[in-house]
Amino acid sequence: MKPYRELTKEELVQLKTELEAKYKEAQAKDLHLDMSRGKPSADQLDLSMPMLDVLNSESDLKDSTGLDCRNYGVLDGLKDAKALLAGMTGVSPENVIVYGNASLNIMYDTVARAMLHGIMGHTPWCRLDKVKFLCPVPGYDRHFAITESFGIEMINIPMTVTGPDMDMVEELVQKDPAVKGIWCVPKYSNPQGITYSEETVRRFAALKPAAEDFRIFWDNAYCVHHLYDDKQDEIPEILSECVKAGNPDMVFEFCSTSKISFPGSGISCIATSENNLKDIKKQMTIQTIGHDKINQLRHVRFFKDIDGIKAHMQKHAAILRPKFEAVLDILERELGGLEIGSWVRPNGGYFISFDALEGCAKAIVAKCKEAGVVMTGAGATYPYHNDPKDSNIRIAPSFPTPEDLAAAAELFVLCVKLVSVEKLLETK
Ligand code: PMP
Repeated sequence: MKPYRELTKEELVQLKTELEAKYKEAQAKDLHLDMSRGKPSADQLDLSMPMLDVLNSESDLKDSTGLDCRNYGVLDGLKDAKALLAGMTGVSPENVIVYGNASLNIMYDTVARAMLHGIMGHTPWCRLDKVKFLCPVPGYDRHFAITESFGIEMINIPMTVTGPDMDMVEELVQKDPAVKGIWCVPKYSNPQGITYSEETVRRFAALKPAAEDFRIFWDNAYCVHHLYDDKQDEIPEILSECVKAGNPDMVFEFCSTSKISFPGSGISCIATSENNLKDIKKQMTIQTIGHDKINQLRHVRFFKDIDGIKAHMQKHAAILRPKFEAVLDILERELGGLEIGSWVRPNGGYFISFDALEGCAKAIVAKCKEAGVVMTGAGATYPYHNDPKDSNIRIAPSFPTPEDLAAAAELFVLCVKLVSVEKLLETK
């Protein structure tokens, strides 16, 4: 089929009638499907069930240093848990603080601490007239929600296939002392599945910020989440790159086992320089006596080391890969050549990002909903829920069963076609 915009008005009207008939049929199926959130499916969660058996009332709950994990103690995490999480991101275990069940609250806490107490002796951000964050777009809605909740002004930075537009990042960071941070998902980004190139990572490490308390918020949420054995994206390790570039304190890195073991019941960490660690611990020691060491021990005993994690992630990939491919195949088969949308084939992560014709995303998501398929709200991938082109839609293929997913994807492409035809007719 030729591109839709080459069709005559009559052909578009005819097509619209056909698509509307198909949409009515789809509505009659009374679907109740959800492609909105990046949650592992039940069979992925089953992979981690044996983890619940590694500790029981008979278990020795001392860690490898002899520490009794049943009791208070150890603010920054078990030695072996630090090593496990350090192995995922390639940092040194000494740079790690292990936190609690998941990483998003570390990010919140890190921004909150900067607001209230300031970073390493600098003025608390809440005392400044203006605080700005750079936000590569499309990006992760919950990042944007954190900075929005603190009244931090968010500036869109377009993503490219090699990561954020670094010319723009360099310029804004260098010239404006109100720019205090940037949200980054460097590997298999949410939602595009883009991995930053080596050059992008090195340019990040070499930034020359106007603000001394500027920090890169490096959310390495998908660091081991490959879909393929033979196509595994890798990035340079950011902490050591920053040290080499003379910016040792410029990055806060985050990660967790949320989509490795049990989301919301995993372990998580921040990795950063010694100076930052000292600064963080000063406040942390008031906040808590320590996090859940029994869960840290459970993760250490179950996974053992990074090789254990890699083997486990291959099992996740075996479940996720066919789902991603089913959606991508339907997109290709149904929309290929029509020039009414574009998407990236990711090598990992949890999402497929779809860019519709300008001005169509909200209408497509609404049409899907009216026929029983819930997608992430259009605009959610942009600060303030404002996608200036109303074009980006995030597809999350992990949770539904393969059959449900195929039905949802078929409905999605139908809605894309219908809304695009309506849009094109407006201009004819
Ligand atoms: N960061 C990104 C980029 C994510 O996509 C997600 C989960 N959707 C998270 C963080 C949340 O991680 P956690 O469960 O560790 O809070």
